[in-house]
Amino acid sequence: MNKNVNIIGAGLVGSLLSIYLAKKGYKVNIYERRPDMRKTKMSAGKSINLALSDRGWRGLEGVGIADDVRKIAIPMYGRFIHNRDGSTAFQPYGKKEQAIYSVSRAEINMKLMDLAEREAGVKIHFNERCTAVDRVKMEASFVNEENKSTTVSSSDLIFGADGAFAASRLNMQLNNDRFEYNQHYISAGYKELIIPPGEGGSFLMEKNALHIWPRGSFMMIALPNPDGNFTCTLFLPFEGEKSFEKLKTREDVTKFFNEEFPDAVPLMPTLLDDFFNNPTSSLVTVKCFPWVFDNKVALIGDAAHAIVPFFGQGMNCGFEDCVVLNELITKHNEDWNKILPEYQSLRKPDGDAIADLAIANFIEMRDKTADPKFLLQKKIEARFNEKYPDKWIPLYSMVTYSPHIRYSTALKEGARQEAIMQKIMAMPDIEKKWDSEEVEKEILKHI
Ligand SMILES: Cc1cc2nc3c(=O)[nH]c(=O)nc-3n(C[C@H](O)[C@H](O)[C@H](O)COP(=O)(O)OP(=O)(O)OC[C@H]3O[C@@H](n4cnc5c(N)ncnc54)[C@H](O)[C@@H]3O)c2cc1C
Repeated sequence: MNKNVNIIGAGLVGSLLSIYLAKKGYKVNIYERRPDMRKTKMSAGKSINLALSDRGWRGLEGVGIADDVRKIAIPMYGRFIHNRDGSTAFQPYGKKEQAIYSVSRAEINMKLMDLAEREAGVKIHFNERCTAVDRVKMEASFVNEENKSTTVSSSDLIFGADGAFAASRLNMQLNNDRFEYNQHYISAGYKELIIPPGEGGSFLMEKNALHIWPRGSFMMIALPNPDGNFTCTLFLPFEGEKSFEKLKTREDVTKFFNEEFPDAVPLMPTLLDDFFNNPTSSLVTVKCFPWVFDNKVALIGDAAHAIVPFFGQGMNCGFEDCVVLNELITKHNEDWNKILPEYQSLRKPDGDAIADLAIANFIEMRDKTADPKFLLQKKIEARFNEKYPDKWIPLYSMVTYSPHIRYSTALKEGARQEAIMQKIMAMPDIEKKWDSEEVEKEILKHI
């Protein structure tokens, strides 16, 4: 086949994919709806920083920019819990050296675009919004957002990497019989806020941690940025007793934050302006099938599997899509009739699995991180893992630090472990004997 590829969307996944393909000798054009973010300032309030973990690092290593990104990444070794009464607690994510990394979404995206254009010879067309994909003619149509001109571009392969609300996916949905589509909004939305740096760019809270204010039905989190500030994200139901709809005036917001996040308020001098200036955004899970059409058009990243952000895996999963695809290109010697069906059969169950895990982790973060019983369970699991690392890897570690374990395996294994731990937690006096041989034997019995 000829090697012309069109990618729709120059976000995190489209940009990374373009580099992998260009390195394999493909001629890649990307069409991106937005202007070039390296030349225009991004609007505030859309997930300024993200948690990057091992699956994502693997994706970046594959194109040789992991070291570059490491320079701007801040390791977070655990959760730093802020209770309502002002007390705090640090909960490590895994073993001592294990961390997830706070990185700027824009910085990574810009680095990927630079690499794609300068080193891999990819051409990125900005301000070009995809309006249609014709899989029979293998043409994609675009409208220029500035001058409204239209372009039709043909290629041998098309990748839809245009995010959670992908036009490419909608086109496939409307033009394919039996296209399965499921879209689910959770009842909570999110708003980004800021804790600015202290004097001389110092961090006003622990730098190397992901901060959480767990409050049952809602929570706030904060991730560090290299210039000393923290991006806070408030996750709150849209409606109900404690909700965005109840926070209408500056007085409402002041009262709510003073009651719920009293230790954060003195660190947020621009809270009220930020709250009313920044958007309130919704959180969606999208599952669909197929991801591949005629072995020539494929969905990738959020376009194939949009997930809620509570496991910090959306970008990581999209980068893993690129890694798997790259491996399959080599394995099948560029035979796309074999590459794309296998890509779909491998990644679809994993996309579904991380979507479900992400929903479950919302409950864990907002609710259980403040529950002593849950914390004890995690302590027992960590101790057991320390003694028997080949018999037990905690779910969080499987997802975050074990890129060789598939998400779908982690989901199954996590459910099996949870059933065992329910039995362990029901043992009488478990609080007193959690680190005893008796408990250890009991776990071994069930494995
Ligand atoms: C609040 C929040 C926090 C998150 N935190 C994390 C985290 O900690 N860790 C993590 O791994 N993931 C996280 N994610 C998920 C992560 O942001 C996404 O999974 C990731 O951005 C997906 O990359 P993508 O390239 O598939 O899509 P996107 O990043 O959405 O990129 C899609 C691109 O396509 C362009 N586009 C859209 N429509 C068109 C069109 N019609 N024509 C042409 N171009 C188009 C867009 O402008 C964009 O540039 C978070 C998400 C949110 C919302």
